[in-house]
Amino acid sequence: MRHPRVLDREQEAVVLAVRRSLVVLSVRLIESDSLVLHSFDYGETSRIVRIATRDAGVLSVIARGARRPKSPFGAAIDLFTSGVAHVRAHPSRDLHTLAGFDTTRSRSELAGSLARFTAASAIAELCLRFGREDDSGRVHDSATAVLDAIGAAEPHDVPALALAGAWRVVADLGFAPALDQCASCHADLPEHVPLTFDHRAGGALCANCARNGGRGRQLPAEARATLRQWLADAESALDDPAARRAHQRLLREFLEEHLGDGRPLRAFLTWEAQGASRTEVTA
Ligand SMILES: [Zn+2]
Repeated sequence: MRHPRVLDREQEAVVLAVRRSLVVLSVRLIESDSLVLHSFDYGETSRIVRIATRDAGVLSVIARGARRPKSPFGAAIDLFTSGVAHVRAHPSRDLHTLAGFDTTRSRSELAGSLARFTAASAIAELCLRFGREDDSGRVHDSATAVLDAIGAAEPHDVPALALAGAWRVVADLGFAPALDQCASCHADLPEHVPLTFDHRAGGALCANCARNGGRGRQLPAEARATLRQWLADAESALDDPAARRAHQRLLREFLEEHLGDGRPLRAFLTWEAQGASRTEVTA
């Protein structure tokens, strides 16, 4: 008859071996079109990168050795770069391993203009704060489209394109604002009249609901028409600086309400401040 302690050790060893093999088996290899949303140094030689992937949603990955002189990643994992990411996804962890990254598009044009860079950074922040693993690739596809539009635009067209793109990302994430029916009672909303936009309720309110406890900002009829255009994937320019600032603020407040964690959207605030400065058209 064996000693109970020996048995315990044997059992332990078996359990450990099984666990190890399960971990090895369940590491998922993902090869997916990806977009770099954020990247920062980690330890002596590595970088931690957050990427929106088409096949696995928004992931945090570590690129080991990315800052060594002969890094296998080169400059591939710069901000806003698109490429095919090779990821070893660990089921029990939030941080996965980036095994390789084949760049398809670097988007250096976004860094060449303050207007483009601040707008692109706001889009990236939106994706980072709302993106989740396994989002069916929605964030990747909509963010990539917006960044390409921003990169190809003249600086004075950038704010409207970025606002339009941001609202489409919001819609793709499943919380488009109510503009045609009251966000509270779902009654049809009248055309051509200013309404109350209630962030908490999730959109515009009918006059009744606005009177009975609705809180929010005045939404002029033309601002509602512009939002509708943007959400329908149509272009709608914003030439009036005051209207542009009002739209930026409306979007930021809407996002903050939905995040509900009290953390400011720093890139959005920078974008707003930059738009309010005089460098906006020439930058
Ligand atoms: Zn109502």
